[in-house]
Amino acid sequence: MIASSAGLAITSLGASGAVAAEKKHPITIAVTTDPALPLPNDNGAAYIAEIKKSVSAAAELWSDESDGNVEFSIEATRWVPGLGTCDGDRGHARSEVSKAVGFTGGPRKHLIVAVGNCTGGSATGSVTSGPDSGGAIYVPGLGSGGTYAHELGHNLGFGHAGVLVCPDGIVDGSLTADWGEKGSCKGSEYDDAWDVQGATRSWMFKPLSSPNRIRLGWLPADRYEVVKGAGVNQKVTIRSRDNESGLVAVQATDPTTGRTFYVELSQPVDRDKGIEDPDGRITEAEGAKLRRGYGVRILRYVGKGTSTMVVPTAAGSDGVRNLYWSAGETFETTEAGLRIEIVSNDGGQATLRIGTTADGEEPLRAPAPAVAGLDEDTPAHGDSGDPADTATADPAPAADAAAEKPTDTTTEASTPNLASSGTDLSIGVLGLVLVGAGAGAFMIGRSRLVRTRR
Ligand SMILES: [Zn+2]
Repeated sequence: MIASSAGLAITSLGASGAVAAEKKHPITIAVTTDPALPLPNDNGAAYIAEIKKSVSAAAELWSDESDGNVEFSIEATRWVPGLGTCDGDRGHARSEVSKAVGFTGGPRKHLIVAVGNCTGGSATGSVTSGPDSGGAIYVPGLGSGGTYAHELGHNLGFGHAGVLVCPDGIVDGSLTADWGEKGSCKGSEYDDAWDVQGATRSWMFKPLSSPNRIRLGWLPADRYEVVKGAGVNQKVTIRSRDNESGLVAVQATDPTTGRTFYVELSQPVDRDKGIEDPDGRITEAEGAKLRRGYGVRILRYVGKGTSTMVVPTAAGSDGVRNLYWSAGETFETTEAGLRIEIVSNDGGQATLRIGTTADGEEPLRAPAPAVAGLDEDTPAHGDSGDPADTATADPAPAADAAAEKPTDTTTEASTPNLASSGTDLSIGVLGLVLVGAGAGAFMIGRSRLVRTRR
């Protein structure tokens, strides 16, 4: 038990790594092979070096995004050839590898099993109950920095980052029953390309959006504005979300529904930079055309409250909905209890005018009627279905494996050696998927962000 973290300087972690115990997340990397494929003759040295590089980059992202509250560190690397499978029973393989390396699990302990000689395939991570649970990751292949960042995000308890796709004329309605709501909007589970928990490609090495940062206290209280209650009429200026000081987000609640929305500004700086050809790219999901770009992002939680979705604009005359909001546009909730006007966006900061309906006042317009009939053909999602195939609408750069796309998720009920550790994995050790990264598709180049944590 560490005496106290008070006064412990986290600002400059030296080689000694003075990290408070409750922030330290040791990772065991176990590298194996599929016995049906050729074995390298270097005892896995090249595989291990590549994986360590990628995992270190992912660790750096989570250190940044958690404001220093999650410090992954590679505690051990093990070479245990011949125990893996590229497309067979990964649960069994993971169990065998876990036993072979003596992984015991426990709070904040993470196991990465990588099957080095696979050419790719979907990776999985345990979606746990929260940042302290610990978890296990299985990667057929070597994985990329983006892969590990995303899967470690699942181990920290995060779901996916998607896009809310409502019927024409509705911007923010409730989702269908398969998302646990009672509305008519569909969700495109992976399509928030501006979030590490969105569709991960090797070039998707993105920040964590503000809802989850706020929920976990990773965004200090003086960095976001809370707007709630009736009769609010307030101007707020936010800086782009990668700034290290000043307001960077707004949490605004519609008093008529209690639903909370989050507003942040994305600009092509720091981790938000480098999204390949981001401006004007149009993807299709759930029957909607969605245009990417930098600007004001409006998000909300879905499902169990660890997955987020971006709320796009209504479709323009070209039928395309923007995933960002521009100066002059106003987001208004369906029940009209909350309005967010984007007054200006000069690139470095955006000014918003946020209003809520006055107490007791009738909504400004009638609520949209329920559209029950639209629910019938809603595809399943999450652990039981196919997310949108982003690979066709949104081709990866040449270096990426063509097969890099979300695929069938599998339920991973057995997480070897974790169940007895006292961690609570019961609410959903869902196997969630990501992206296969073929060998050679890995790390995006990125200069180290120097951050001062407070
Ligand atoms: Zn995932």
